[in-house]
Amino acid sequence: MIRENAQKILDELPQGVELEAACKTRSCKEILEAIDAGVNIIGENYVQEAEKAFEVIGKRARWHFIGHLQKNKIKKAVWIFDMIETLDSIKLAEELDKGCAASGKVMPVLIEINSGREEQKFGVLPEEVEGLIIKLSGLKYIRIKGLMTMGPLTGNPEDARPYFIETKRVFERMKSLGLPEIEMRYLSMGMSHSYKIAIEEGANIVRIGTRIFGQRLGGS
Ligand SMILES: *Cc1c(COP(=O)(O)O)cnc(C)c1O
Repeated sequence: MIRENAQKILDELPQGVELEAACKTRSCKEILEAIDAGVNIIGENYVQEAEKAFEVIGKRARWHFIGHLQKNKIKKAVWIFDMIETLDSIKLAEELDKGCAASGKVMPVLIEINSGREEQKFGVLPEEVEGLIIKLSGLKYIRIKGLMTMGPLTGNPEDARPYFIETKRVFERMKSLGLPEIEMRYLSMGMSHSYKIAIEEGANIVRIGTRIFGQRLGGS
């Protein structure tokens, strides 16, 4: 089923939009099935889980980190991932920059926006993005490549639209600043229930789990 699900989504995606399989809790076998169907980006929320999968799957896909990165996991994360989508503080950026410098690796990053302004959520507020980006532009081992948002989890996919619109607005504004070293290229937004709306509002990476792999056990 995984192969069919992934192929169906890939067939329907407009040109220029990439499918990222959100792989939390999935086995290597399941992830490989998605890769065989044509999925090129693996999204992982946990460094430890990614490490196990990476040992088996390696560079058959690009690895994106979409969870909350802890300081003590940075070294491993730098080794595994091709992009960190969830950068949301100067402190984390400095730690990551240090970790990347030690490995001699330049890491593409997305800034995570808390578009729903939810207190318990990670990410920076829309109005804080510009200040953060300017502060980060001096760091040599990270490269800002765009924005990512989750948005509030809602029952009705249409309810997610305003948060995608808001994120796209910030994306365009950052692009218009023409800051050196900053390339606003990727806009990562939309999940299983909301990705079609996210694409309508400008997403070019969609992160999809359940619609590829089926319901998660444990409901996380
Ligand atoms: C799990 C997850 C997704 C995908 O969620 P689904 O509803 O299973 O498609 C997307 N983004 C992040 C950050 C996630 O943790």
